[in-house]
Amino acid sequence: MTLSANATTRFWNNVLNYNQPGKCWEWRGYRNYKGYGRCRIKGTKLRRAHRVAWMLANGSEPPPTLFVCHKCDNPPCCNPEHLFLGNHRENMADKVEKARRSRGTKPFTLELPKSMILRLQEWSVYEQQSIAALVRGAIEVALTEAEY
Ligand SMILES: [Zn+2]
Repeated sequence: MTLSANATTRFWNNVLNYNQPGKCWEWRGYRNYKGYGRCRIKGTKLRRAHRVAWMLANGSEPPPTLFVCHKCDNPPCCNPEHLFLGNHRENMADKVEKARRSRGTKPFTLELPKSMILRLQEWSVYEQQSIAALVRGAIEVALTEAEY
């Protein structure tokens, strides 16, 4: 299907940050429970806004068997630069990879015990490098001792 110039203008008027490069262009109209924008084009059923955005940018409908996926992982985004075509397998692999990456940062956060925080505050008069050397030394001792 093609959109009239008026319908095309109405569509992009519903998109936040339209034509601002690099930004997510979020659909401001109705969104479904997953956050995907929905729009009604005259005479058709509700359509996914990001698929319509892909169509407007590429001049043809996305193939019905393919997903229009988000590089930015932001469901309401309609910026064609953030969209790519993928099959079901690629779409799922992309979701798994994104989930893995976002989980991947968590094991490296460390919550310090209160006693350690108090000690660090006492030491805050010293240079951070000296404190880091002390902490490294303490960690080395702790890990070495842990082996026996
Ligand atoms: Zn985006």
